[in-house]
Amino acid sequence: MKAERIGVFGGTFDPPHVGHLILAAEAQDQLRLDRLLWVLTPDPPHKQDWSISPLAIRLQLLLAAIGDNPSFELSRVDIDRPGPHYAVDTVKILQEQFPSAEIYYLIGGDSLHDLPTWYQPQQLIKLVHGLGVMRRPGDQVDLRELEDKIPGLTAKICFIEAPLLEISARQIRQRIAEGRAFRYYVPPAVYRLIDEYKIYRNSSLTELAD
Ligand code: ATP
Repeated sequence: MKAERIGVFGGTFDPPHVGHLILAAEAQDQLRLDRLLWVLTPDPPHKQDWSISPLAIRLQLLLAAIGDNPSFELSRVDIDRPGPHYAVDTVKILQEQFPSAEIYYLIGGDSLHDLPTWYQPQQLIKLVHGLGVMRRPGDQVDLRELEDKIPGLTAKICFIEAPLLEISARQIRQRIAEGRAFRYYVPPAVYRLIDEYKIYRNSSLTELAD
């Protein structure tokens, strides 16, 4: 029997935006994934510098973003365990949950660049079947340098073909705080929630300033 192919897409999703959805959908198509697990990270180890929206809000936004796609699933793997939420541990737990599956971990090009700073990147690379990477404008991906730091990495990378999308959650939070248009940067259900509950209207000035 063919092994199930599972995509694992971790993020802060503050808020989830069309960049995330396009990455997930293209990965699913190009890597022929049977299912795609969205892993919401409660307190990302690498994002201690700005105040992240409460988990309950991000959870609602994420469920709204993925709710109309039956092959997208929320995984509570990181929500239901104490931090720090390192990707390598997330993958280990998912492997126990889906012992015969092939796991593809999905990231943007900026995350690929930062991978050597993650916790136990070598182990993460060893555990996953593949690393689905969607490039991002301005990301600096030097495969030779990455391979030097994490031997075996390049063999695991599967680049996902997609247009470069200059969209980030930070930029959307900033737009909202400044009262600028943001509607089509997020899926309609996410837009409705942000609009109705006036989320991100008062983002901290420190974030806007840097
Ligand atoms: P922030 O702007 O708050 O840092 P973000 O937009 O980068 O957030 P995250 O939730 O941190 O969103 O991202 C989760 C994953 O999605 C990361 O691996 C990131 O590289 C990837 N990603 C986010 N936006 C894009 C994009 N426009 N193109 C490709 N990958 C993306």
